[in-house]
Amino acid sequence: MPHASLHDLKNQGLYRQLKTITSEQGPEIDFNGRRFLNFSSNNYLGLANHPLLKKAAIDAIEKYGVGSGASRLITGSMLVHQELEDKIALFKGTEKALLFNSGYHANIGVIPSLVGEGDFIFSDELNHASLIDGCRLSKAKTNVYRHKNAKHLDQLLSNSPPLLNFRGGYRRLIITDTVFSMDGDLCDLPVILELAEKYNAHVFLDEAHATGVFGKRGRGVVEHYGVKSDHPRIVQMGTLGKAIGSFGAYVCGSASLIEWLINKSRSFIYTTALPPAVAAAGLASLHLIAEDPSHRENLLQNIHYFRNGLKRIGWDRLLPLSISPIFPLILGDALKTMTLSQALFDKGIWAHGIRPPTVPQGTSRLRLTMMATHTKHHLDRCLEALEELPLEGLK
Ligand SMILES: *Cc1c(COP(=O)(O)O)cnc(C)c1O
Repeated sequence: MPHASLHDLKNQGLYRQLKTITSEQGPEIDFNGRRFLNFSSNNYLGLANHPLLKKAAIDAIEKYGVGSGASRLITGSMLVHQELEDKIALFKGTEKALLFNSGYHANIGVIPSLVGEGDFIFSDELNHASLIDGCRLSKAKTNVYRHKNAKHLDQLLSNSPPLLNFRGGYRRLIITDTVFSMDGDLCDLPVILELAEKYNAHVFLDEAHATGVFGKRGRGVVEHYGVKSDHPRIVQMGTLGKAIGSFGAYVCGSASLIEWLINKSRSFIYTTALPPAVAAAGLASLHLIAEDPSHRENLLQNIHYFRNGLKRIGWDRLLPLSISPIFPLILGDALKTMTLSQALFDKGIWAHGIRPPTVPQGTSRLRLTMMATHTKHHLDRCLEALEELPLEGLK
């Protein structure tokens, strides 16, 4: 629908609009002079306004000022960037890590650094938009496999020609979210690694929604599955803007991978470095997560409580089985979804409707997310509001 007018978008329930929040990013937010319960944040651990992160940011401003002044390769590479990269590598259990200014930057920069014309990408159909854009920019031939369908992935891999023009980069690259951002389900990492072995492919993992949440120590889905963190076939990225509570992103892997990205990744090279306060907050968050598991524990309890609540009110039928803080209530129709999202909004519940092109046609949904800092009272109020929705024909 490349030539759709704004008018068409409105008629189809696809029109998008900004809503300006006037409070901090917590379980309750202020909009238009009214308090809302926030069920639309990726701030899963509730750390975005944690006192320790705020203090770290303020201290960094006192020490380094506000702006970083240049790209990392010019004069923008500050001690705090280095400290954060070392901490990420330690946290993720890899040799090295490299900061990017956001997950979007990382994905559009790393993928074209790993594969190019003549190479082959195998991409899950529900991968995040930034991965899709990274594939496009790479000019590699992109094969899209059906969501988590190992048979289809195997078939596409077996159809790709044998290694002909290996140039030291990766020839076959399987790309997947580890936690799918709009569905909350996990990729089948062990199966993907088996296929990568069978076809001599590498694997690029997007841990955006997993970092800080999954695995015994919050290191992500790689840890959740007990896969070696420095597995030679895996390149990992994740963002610092979601559960970590700050901003920016990382790629981690071997020292030679990081050296390569510093030299080749355009979205790393040609942009001003992260502000020092942002890096310092990310660093403080990783320290906090390592030392204090209570944030993750609270989140897991809330996930459990909310899932049981949905079952009680009969909404679980709309829900795929998942253990993540992302609850997609799939309604199908975009207009219906936006009507219900508005109805919740009227009840003081902030729960976004998600529509195409973010999700496939016919799978529009209310996407609710849990935070460690939601109280039982918050969760109960949300469940009550859902129960009161006019849902004829849906449940
Ligand atoms: C949010 C997200 C990104 C982008 O990360 P930002 O740091 O917000 O730019 C990338 N991949 C996935 C799967 C995401 O959900």
